[in-house]
Amino acid sequence: MSNLLITNGLVIGARGQEIQDILIRDELIVTISPQINPPENCRIIDANAKWIFPGVIDPHTHMGIPIKSGYSADTFASGSPSALHGGVTTILDFSVLESGQTLRESLNTRIKLAGESLCDVGIHVNITRFEPEILAEIPDLIRSGYNSFKVFTTYAEADMMLTYDQIEAVATIIGQHNGILMVHSEDNDVIRRASESFAGGTQTHPRYHGLSRPAEAELVAINRLGEISSRTNCTIYIVHLNTAAGLAKATEYPLLKVETCPHYLLLSEKMYERPDGQMFVSSPPLRSIADSEALWLGLQNGQIHTIGSDHCPFCLGDKPAGTPYQDIPNGMGGVETLFPTLLAQFMERHLNLELLVRLTSSNPAAIFGLDHFKGSLKAGFHADLMIVDPWSISTNWESTLHTSLDWNAYTNFSAVFPETVIRRGEVVIDKAIMNSPSKGLLLKAGS
Ligand SMILES: [Zn+2]
Repeated sequence: MSNLLITNGLVIGARGQEIQDILIRDELIVTISPQINPPENCRIIDANAKWIFPGVIDPHTHMGIPIKSGYSADTFASGSPSALHGGVTTILDFSVLESGQTLRESLNTRIKLAGESLCDVGIHVNITRFEPEILAEIPDLIRSGYNSFKVFTTYAEADMMLTYDQIEAVATIIGQHNGILMVHSEDNDVIRRASESFAGGTQTHPRYHGLSRPAEAELVAINRLGEISSRTNCTIYIVHLNTAAGLAKATEYPLLKVETCPHYLLLSEKMYERPDGQMFVSSPPLRSIADSEALWLGLQNGQIHTIGSDHCPFCLGDKPAGTPYQDIPNGMGGVETLFPTLLAQFMERHLNLELLVRLTSSNPAAIFGLDHFKGSLKAGFHADLMIVDPWSISTNWESTLHTSLDWNAYTNFSAVFPETVIRRGEVVIDKAIMNSPSKGLLLKAGS
């Protein structure tokens, strides 16, 4: 049995903040109260009025996923230590449905890869083929704790798209069994029409990536998905929402849950004009500053429920300058900078830190069925937390990143990295140095 007592931290929760002591035994929080006497054989960490946040649950990562020409740059083994350094103790990643595989087989393949993760890890089930046998697997998967599924309204060329009718059929089954449907929401017809004007021409600069996927694509898709959620009574989670118009539409439908990403809050389409503009190509693309300010308002109004990194990084060599936008691998890294950059922004914008906790811990836990043991600092819950010194806010942190990548999107941004990170009771980062953590736990909803 190991005891750990954290004293005098300002514990920031979803609904308040207070100086508290936290007693941890093995993996769990035993007590949290203003004054706890240490038991025998207890390590004590004096948090000394620094801030304590619940560990971040990043609901959206893509570790080592196949693309046209290889894989995204971080594997579970390289991406998860980087995540821990940014205070992310849980990642939720996605299965990849290869041709001929059942959903269960694709899930098992992914679970095996996720065994390398040092973060606790859950897997969403991608449905990129519409077949009766695939649909028939859904109820059983939900019963066994895999209750979140993802579909795409686009990527027809990669054979990943489902039509709206097919999505409605999937949503009907998931809704009946109380699962959740996640949707990449960009209308394929809108993208096709917008792209046609650039096809075969000289307009291949990264800025045309944005113009080929206009804001209207998100608006049209969210409108259709909102209607589907109402008709099927299925909760639909809009991944990586990025436009003011899409957000306004999403708020019309009570069964839609909304995620946005740090790059849509912190960056804009102006990045495409930089000499390394190709590195910022992701789908959906970066938007205007007005869009990003609308998202900041949406966070404050409770219209956006979570912030996921959509971590899908590539190195400089994977995205050479001058590559036509159509051939640039889509995606950016961000799991390590997710919380540190957002915390700095929340401080600079004088926003409520409890809101940040809701967006990055308690809401993702509740939405994905993990909220009886993760997402909050409470007795009986997993001891996932971080200690942050707010005075360590800095713009000079890039060289301290713990990633295998040679490029990062947030150079010169303010950030506050945690100095101590505890995952299920284990001190995995101690004074910014990683110990040799045990492997993460495979998570299932509701168990
Ligand atoms: Zn994604």
